[in-house]
Amino acid sequence: IGATATDAPAETQPGKAPKGVVLGKDGKPCRTCTSSADWKELMKSSSRMKKPVAAAAPQPAPSDCPPDVEALGRSTWTLLHTMAATYPEAPTRGQQSDLVSFVGLFSRLYPCWVCAEDFRGYVAREPPQVASRDDFGMWLCGAHNEVNRKLGKPVFDCSKWEERWRTGWKD
Ligand code: FAD
Repeated sequence: IGATATDAPAETQPGKAPKGVVLGKDGKPCRTCTSSADWKELMKSSSRMKKPVAAAAPQPAPSDCPPDVEALGRSTWTLLHTMAATYPEAPTRGQQSDLVSFVGLFSRLYPCWVCAEDFRGYVAREPPQVASRDDFGMWLCGAHNEVNRKLGKPVFDCSKWEERWRTGWKD
């Protein structure tokens, strides 16, 4: 799943990504696969190509822009972990099968294609555990930690997943 034509500045040559910018399957920059810092650099370089005028004073980024890879990721993890937190302790077979279907569809539709590709790899190696709330919460924590490791972020202590996402921290 890559970017649409409207995501990319017209001046960007398909197939050539500036540093840090991830291309979509169409060869154009993929905003939901790229950090806002790298996207800003891309925008700056494309506007420099348009009109080489005196640099304008830096503007604070508006808060209602389309999400970059980080904002999308944070919101998505919030949804996924909250789904785990509200999943039944003893789900029916139907609920278990719905959750397996959801994870499979999610892994194909997530709008950062590089993220989705790696996530599908994880799902193939470590099939979703859906027999109980704790099983799914721990599985999801492992999935999130896999991404944390890849990005060089601290690994989360999975014994604390419920405190973080369901009960709140113990005093
Ligand atoms: P996030 O990682 O978004 O975490 C949000 C909060 O979750 C943290 O503050 C912490 O309290 C809690 N948390 C952290 N780890 C765990 C855990 N293991 N279990 C439970 N709770 C936890 N970004 C990329 O640049 N490249 C990728 O390939 C990529 N793949 C992704 C794949 C998926 C399926 C998703 C949902 C996101 C992906 N992201 C990827 C985004 C990335 O994971 C982060 O969301 C993003 O970098 C913002 O990070 P953050 O530091 O704000 O915290």
